[in-house]
Amino acid sequence: MTIKAYGAHAGTLPLEPMDITRRAPGAHDVQIDIAYCGVCHSDIHQVRAEWAGTLYPCVPGHEIVGRVVAVGDHVSGFRAGDLVGVGCIVDSCRHCGDCDDGLENYCDHMTGTYNFPTPDAPGHTLGGYSQQIVVHERYVLRVTHPEAQLAAVAPLLCAGITTYSPLRHWQAGPGKKVGVVGIGGLGHMGIKLAHAMGAHVVAFTTSESKRDAARALGADEVVVSRHADEMDAHAKSFDFILNTVAAPHNLDVFTALLKRDGTMTLVGAPATPHDSPEVFSLIMKRRSIAGSMIGGIPETQEMLDFCAEHGIVADIELIRADQINDAYERMLRGDVHYRFVIDNATLTS
Ligand SMILES: [Zn+2]
Ligand SMILES: [Zn+2]
Repeated sequence: MTIKAYGAHAGTLPLEPMDITRRAPGAHDVQIDIAYCGVCHSDIHQVRAEWAGTLYPCVPGHEIVGRVVAVGDHVSGFRAGDLVGVGCIVDSCRHCGDCDDGLENYCDHMTGTYNFPTPDAPGHTLGGYSQQIVVHERYVLRVTHPEAQLAAVAPLLCAGITTYSPLRHWQAGPGKKVGVVGIGGLGHMGIKLAHAMGAHVVAFTTSESKRDAARALGADEVVVSRHADEMDAHAKSFDFILNTVAAPHNLDVFTALLKRDGTMTLVGAPATPHDSPEVFSLIMKRRSIAGSMIGGIPETQEMLDFCAEHGIVADIELIRADQINDAYERMLRGDVHYRFVIDNATLTS
């Protein structure tokens, strides 16, 4: 079937309307009418070929929500009319240790929602800046938020799980002091989620102007990281720091804030490496620096259910599909609170 989409034909070209095809649903497939798709920073990197290996035409988008329109004969978990989500993963090998553990995000053969090889035309996956998507039921998530919140649910599928998974893995919760570095698409979700988990949340920002906003998101304290005296006041006090900043920066100023056995986990992917950490700072307090990438399918469902239960959605600005190129420019300037979401109904016009 042929549908409308927005994508790019080359890294140097803007996104434009295009027609793409989707496979007919197989026995285990779910066919979804996409209502909204969040705009992730990775979309920009991929479309503009800033990471290696972008395949064109490139249709980005891995924060997808919508309604099921049809299911294959062997699909048991979904039926037409269900509200569903699709995140960063649309397939994996389904038999390795990672897949067995429900950690498909770490499967060596994970198929990303866009820009990954697939048997379907045109030979690589095409994402959510499109009217429909067809996905194996294993990789489809149930959405239980009220339908009125659907647009603001979309960013949970990447920004939400990318922050939820490390917060859970490193046991953010009551009695824990948790830092969140950066207050953007990822960071604003990290603050909301850590707060809902019961942790004492400290937000770090470089801009004085974000203090009030961070508190409104649920931060108990806000530190302007350029102010050395404010940073020093938190030395050796954190159990866990979630660092969402992708731009290369000095990690040592944050590891110095970890208490003994504390961990700082990086979820932003820098285009060029950070300077190496000061190893003595790690040795002296048995501190760790770690990484984490999105989350597996069961944990993504757990995250969506947690958010529905706690009334958590992303703070979004809804845009038409033809505003996407401007939205990218605004994201690069940090001019969005905190996530753009495309209204996919505007793909028709
Ligand atoms: Zn993303
Ligand atoms: Zn696997």
